Amino acid sequence: MKLIVRIAAVLLSLLLAFAAFLVVRTLTYQSPAADHTEINLAPAPAVDIEQAATHLSEAIRFRTITEQDDGAEDLSQWDAMHEWLARTYTLVHANLRLEKVAGYTLIFTLDGSDKSLEPFVLMAHQDVVPVVDSTESQWKHPPFDGLIADGAVWGRGSVDDKGSMIAILESVEALLKSGFKPKRTLIIVNGHDEEGPHKGATAAAAWFRDKGIKAEFVLDEGLVTITDFPLLKDRVALVGIAEKGYATLQLTASGPGGHSSMPPDDTAVATLAQAILAVTNNPGPMDIKGPGAETLRVIAPYAPFLTRMAIANEWLFKPLLIDQVAATPAGAALLHTTMAPTMLRASPKENVLPNTASAIINYRIIPGETTANVIERAQTGIGDLPVTIKLGKEAQDPSPISSTTSEPWKIVAALASQKNAIPVAPGLVLAATDSYQLTPVATDVYRFQPIELSLSETSMIHGINEHMTLDNLKRMTDFYGSLIATAGSR
Ligand SMILES: [Zn+2]
Repeated sequence: MKLIVRIAAVLLSLLLAFAAFLVVRTLTYQSPAADHTEINLAPAPAVDIEQAATHLSEAIRFRTITEQDDGAEDLSQWDAMHEWLARTYTLVHANLRLEKVAGYTLIFTLDGSDKSLEPFVLMAHQDVVPVVDSTESQWKHPPFDGLIADGAVWGRGSVDDKGSMIAILESVEALLKSGFKPKRTLIIVNGHDEEGPHKGATAAAAWFRDKGIKAEFVLDEGLVTITDFPLLKDRVALVGIAEKGYATLQLTASGPGGHSSMPPDDTAVATLAQAILAVTNNPGPMDIKGPGAETLRVIAPYAPFLTRMAIANEWLFKPLLIDQVAATPAGAALLHTTMAPTMLRASPKENVLPNTASAIINYRIIPGETTANVIERAQTGIGDLPVTIKLGKEAQDPSPISSTTSEPWKIVAALASQKNAIPVAPGLVLAATDSYQLTPVATDVYRFQPIELSLSETSMIHGINEHMTLDNLKRMTDFYGSLIATAGSR
């Protein structure tokens, strides 16, 4: 009995010591974020927000829609918008060199006085996604009228991404009016098919290469400040430092065709069904690493105690942490390569056996993996099933991961923090942006639109009732104005 008591006492004291160790580690945990408080931010020029809202409303009325079928666009809408831009932003057009690439993508250059400095680049695309016909009646205000009501500008593109395009131009116009002359060259790239094949951004990257220009940094759309960030239920400014890769695999199974009244044991459709399950049952591993992990590590000090303890003691709680983050599809997407079967094709008629049946599986590849890993994993899943795998032509590996210690990062973070009121965390962008094309010609690429949205509000992007509040419009002109003045004066 005594021995048991002694063993229990020893175990208990070990347990208490271990618990104390975890608590101390949790309480002394430091965010790995670089200190951005040393950055001296130049003030933003005054921008008339009412007028900026009117300009955004006018921009929305141009139907610069990238259609699903490449080539179905009404290109006269871009021409009309370019004429309107020239009339509206006269100082920009008088002081910046404007070149067009791929027909409709705009590249504006404001020369700096010191040509030895690498330029910095702001991006915002001109095109928008269509409005699904069946949803048009659900809009509070028509999607292409640009109505200003209830303290917001309503319409397709008000956020994604004409909001940024207009805010950047308003800021530059105001800076020029105040006599601003940069030391470092500023380049603005307005792509015209970001919601499509990214030909404009691809041509812009070639323009940089041909001129031998390497950008110090690029800032494009991507992430925003989320007002109800899940683990904190509070604001977090998420700045994208990388974006996931993209691939589609076509699985094709073959079988004897013929009349469906005399089917063989193995049909193309049944084989394909087995193959789809074999592939989707062999998912990419989840891990706490890369930009998704960086987000957690940076927000940990602001998180409730148990979450903070799990992040501060990742070596112990990793499986729990993965379970917690992966509880939602959006969280899971940050931890691994996702795959989604999206399209199926087989017989055109109900009583005809198809010779082939095929499925499309869409992948979003986590940084650290490649298209080759995705194909390999699918092949392993399929084993010796008689199915072929073909990679779709729009495949691209994940982007490189940008620095979170460089001076441009600190400037962007200092601004996004709104005078240190908001934690700024690096993040992973799940969709593809135009800035991907510029990664080979830039040292760092950041993806952040300086607006505040709740998680539920983000569904208006590509959805219904897209609108830009005047508060968010002001946040943007403050951000871009100060960013250009700060980054351009060094
Ligand atoms: Zn966009």
